[in-house]
Amino acid sequence: MRSKQQRLSVSSLQQDLENHDGGGTSWSTYTSGDLMVQGHYPWRPVDLMLRQTAPPGQRLLKGIPASPGISIGRAFVLSVESPSVPHEKLEQRRIPDEVARFRSALEAAASELVSAIELARTESASVSTIIESFLLIVSDPIITSSIVTRIETGIPAEAAVVQEFDVHKSILLGARDPILRERVQDFDAVKERLIGTLRNRTLTHAAGGNAIVVAGSVTPQDMLFFKQTGTLAYVTEVGGINSHACILARDMLIPAVIGIRNATGEILNGLNIVVDGYSGIVVVDPDESTLEGYRRKQSEAEAYRVSLGALRHEPTVTRDGHRVSLFGNVDSPDQVDAAVMAGCEGIGLVRTEYLLLHRSRYPSSDEQYEWYRDIAQRAYPLQVTFRAFDVGSDKYRDGIPHHEDNPALGLRGIRFLLYRPDIFREQIRAVLRASAHRNVRFMLPMVAVAEEFEQARILIDRCKRELAAEGVEFDAEMPVGVMIETPSAAMMSDYFAAESDFLSIGTNDLAQYALATDRTNELVADIFDAMHPSVLRMIRMTVDAARRYGRSVSVCGELAGHAAATEMLVGMGLSELSVSPALLLEIRHRIRQFSYDDCVELVRKIERCTTTPQVHAIINGRR
Ligand code: PEP
Ligand code: MG
Repeated sequence: MRSKQQRLSVSSLQQDLENHDGGGTSWSTYTSGDLMVQGHYPWRPVDLMLRQTAPPGQRLLKGIPASPGISIGRAFVLSVESPSVPHEKLEQRRIPDEVARFRSALEAAASELVSAIELARTESASVSTIIESFLLIVSDPIITSSIVTRIETGIPAEAAVVQEFDVHKSILLGARDPILRERVQDFDAVKERLIGTLRNRTLTHAAGGNAIVVAGSVTPQDMLFFKQTGTLAYVTEVGGINSHACILARDMLIPAVIGIRNATGEILNGLNIVVDGYSGIVVVDPDESTLEGYRRKQSEAEAYRVSLGALRHEPTVTRDGHRVSLFGNVDSPDQVDAAVMAGCEGIGLVRTEYLLLHRSRYPSSDEQYEWYRDIAQRAYPLQVTFRAFDVGSDKYRDGIPHHEDNPALGLRGIRFLLYRPDIFREQIRAVLRASAHRNVRFMLPMVAVAEEFEQARILIDRCKRELAAEGVEFDAEMPVGVMIETPSAAMMSDYFAAESDFLSIGTNDLAQYALATDRTNELVADIFDAMHPSVLRMIRMTVDAARRYGRSVSVCGELAGHAAATEMLVGMGLSELSVSPALLLEIRHRIRQFSYDDCVELVRKIERCTTTPQVHAIINGRR
């Protein structure tokens, strides 16, 4: 194992390349055990830290592998800091050109926004109202004319934009209405976009070509944009591998490396880079032989992916005939097709909050119904599990009335939905209508206490009565399940098993809350691990409770798609796993390799562990 401080060299890189033996290449394999932990602290040779500009020639940076795959492309570097603006006054004769420069940036920003709205519509069949609200700001005549007036007094365009937006920002911040205060974010986003456009440095400029985005951080919204524009990969300075942006990257097959400190300073814009999402290595300005090695790895990985295709119609059984059901985790209708093509037995998790990306308001019940019905129809006759909006924390935060210091512990998931029963009711009605063909289940996120489940059930029953009175068709027996993703829910899993129709374990949040580690924070990435014995005990407790009450239980967190964990999960008694469609065949492949007795034996050993490294050591066959 390489020490965290050890400088990476081309030979160690070659070693990494050699280790990627095509037959077994898998992201999960490469992120298991020490490599993940080892990748946590990025490699930062002191000489590079002191340099203003990176030297020419090949350099290697080490981050956290966050989404598998290898991409070779051109770096598109987005500055993390809010752009510094020139302060010196313009000469009088330059003012008309500066106004023209601002007007053309404004036009470009507006037309980018218009096409982004179009793209978001086709992607999720939803109107991108958040972008529409950006567009309203960009086209606001009062704001734009005021910026022009500032430029006419000799202030450079960037500075004029900052000044004008700061005025609006301070007015909004002083507003009593929390909704108005929330709009500050829109103004900040538009300000950055305008300045980026003035400097030809917005995300949209990365579109096309073979861009690899290098940024401070990325959001789930950015992922949607990357997919639409064909961005090859991304590299960030911060983030955790179980952040929602990373989950989306894996779903969308966009390779990613995160946690490279000062990546936006280390990597110069326009340079060729290689992103190795298996090992977390980024090669800046690669030489020909490195490129050759990576091209070979790319084709090996592709060959491996194609070989897995042969398992599409094969059953998911262990060598000794123990059956496991594989379900898909999806964010959009087209992913349902991918999961069905890979031979899933149903959709175990639809993250409905992705319907909200790029919107500034909650979609109506009718709009939601269209989306849910589309998904249910595509999956039919397979079952689909819609999860109620899990907003808050690092996801969509619109409608949350206050700034929260600890959003992950705040008004998130079911708490938000009970706080806004008007929004929840619209969603329940839409899901119920989509259940008319009896292949729909509904699942509640972030439940911590019994009252939340009870209140949600009262609301669901009320919606059923309303729909029945309106003569609308729906499945009166639609199963309602609970996500076990807080330690409290796990400890109370016998209650939730007795009262609900099914359980699904969200290991991402269960680990976050059990270990008190923010899943989006790279500084605690080496503590965040769903294989910690405390999390495993809670999984076991939940599985036993479900079994006692004859309820189905699945794991739908990222642990289910972690090939190194599969044997252990099966041995713990799980016979339903829900994973990203991109990983489904690999997990099937894995399950078909071992016997159920081996799985049980493995779990017997793991149960004695007190630390995560001990669990990894047993899983990796070192103990
Ligand atoms: C989880 O927490 O494991 C889960 C599946 O939900 P999400 O990742 O969307 O929070
Ligand atoms: Mg969760």
